[in-house]
Amino acid sequence: MLRRTKILATLGPATDDPKVIDNLIGAGVDVVRLNLSHGTHADHKRRAEIVRDRAQARGRQVGVLLDLQGPKIRIGKFKNDPVNLQEGAAFILDADCDLDEGDQERVGITYKSLIEDVSRGDTLILADGAIVLWVEEVTGGEIRCKVVVGGVLSNNKGINKQGGGLSAPALTDKDKEDIIFAASIEADYLAVSFVQTARDVDEARRLLREAGGKGGIVSKIERAEALDCVEEVIMASEAIMIARGDLGVEIGDAELPAVQKRLIKCARSLNKVAITATQMMESMIENQIPTRAEVFDVANAVLDGTDAVMLSAETAAGKYPVKTVEAMDRICREAEKQRKVRKSTHRINSVFGRTDEAIAMAAMYTANHLGVTAIAALTESGSTPKWMSRISSGIPIYALTPHVATRRKVTLFRGVYPISFDVTGCDSQKANEEIIDELLRRSAVRDGDLVVITKGDLNGVEGGTNVMKILKVGEHKRPIND
Ligand code: PGA
Ligand code: MN
Repeated sequence: MLRRTKILATLGPATDDPKVIDNLIGAGVDVVRLNLSHGTHADHKRRAEIVRDRAQARGRQVGVLLDLQGPKIRIGKFKNDPVNLQEGAAFILDADCDLDEGDQERVGITYKSLIEDVSRGDTLILADGAIVLWVEEVTGGEIRCKVVVGGVLSNNKGINKQGGGLSAPALTDKDKEDIIFAASIEADYLAVSFVQTARDVDEARRLLREAGGKGGIVSKIERAEALDCVEEVIMASEAIMIARGDLGVEIGDAELPAVQKRLIKCARSLNKVAITATQMMESMIENQIPTRAEVFDVANAVLDGTDAVMLSAETAAGKYPVKTVEAMDRICREAEKQRKVRKSTHRINSVFGRTDEAIAMAAMYTANHLGVTAIAALTESGSTPKWMSRISSGIPIYALTPHVATRRKVTLFRGVYPISFDVTGCDSQKANEEIIDELLRRSAVRDGDLVVITKGDLNGVEGGTNVMKILKVGEHKRPIND
């Protein structure tokens, strides 16, 4: 059985041996994430090259997602790293303090305008929740705080404001340079951190297109503001990432499960893709097996209908990157057995705007209700298999396309598998035969199985899908009229 949920793995120092990358692909990684919060362009370029080389050697398709750092606000460094903050003590975040002059009393901040974004009564959360500060007053360049939750605070830790409300724009100057880099390595997806509104998404896409990049935009939902206009943000994006790390700090951890379910549902119903991210297998950074809670977390994301589950430090900096992917793979496969919905009511009351969209929906309705073994969508841009895969189904959707960019794009879509296929110059009968022969070669179908094929009368036309055919394997070589 094919796994439907896709695995997205972050690369880093722990995966730098090409053998490890090869093993990650062997263990089932579908998309890799290059995190621009760390490492140089040269590091990331080399990683992307190794991934594409190893994928090709294995006859696989692996997508590349480039993740922008965004306006992550951080404290500076301490003269004597780290410091230990006591509960109830005073501590100052100081815009005028040198970035490497921090001490027990104060520390510098990377975003000077933070002083305009906070006022008395605000709660600031440092180091992903390890330290909590209450703002007593803001005077001059100083944010004077009282330590609510104390502990060890080390260099360059992140700062979040509870409830959101930070003014930093989503795209920093570094991000703008990194977008040009993303275009240069032909990244399949560009993830935008700390998206606030749909305008941020449009702007990132504009810059990417201007640099010649064709990748899709993934909006990371990690700010409270983004939740207030999340439908517009989703509509403006190709995909969203439920970035549970920063989001949990802004809105509170207890709200995360409900938000995850809502966002996945919303993305699917708007024909968009969802990635569930952060701490899914956190304990496997150190351990060879996941905790039971992690097993449930991954399985629950699958049951929620996520397209992909993501690994961060588990693969980038963990001790057991390959074992982590293997564990995720087996958990997804088992969970998927629980969600083979074949009677979907997805968009049952909606009106379709396009012929190709209507064909995609009709194909899934038919496939789910007739007992079809495989769906084959001839596609230029990947839209038809995307519409199809928004409908819950246990049936594999093969995306057949001559375009490598489309094959890489669909690596993120749940239940969709790319196949390199060119029907240029084939008549319709010959194309049908070749599609089924290809599925037979892959052992995806057997004699007597039904296959649904969607395609256009005219090859090579985007949005041209206007035909659905149902063929029986074994009888597909008989002459037909169409
Ligand atoms: P990050 O994003 O890993 O880039 O911080 C994910 C998250 O915040 O959960
Ligand atoms: Mn984040």
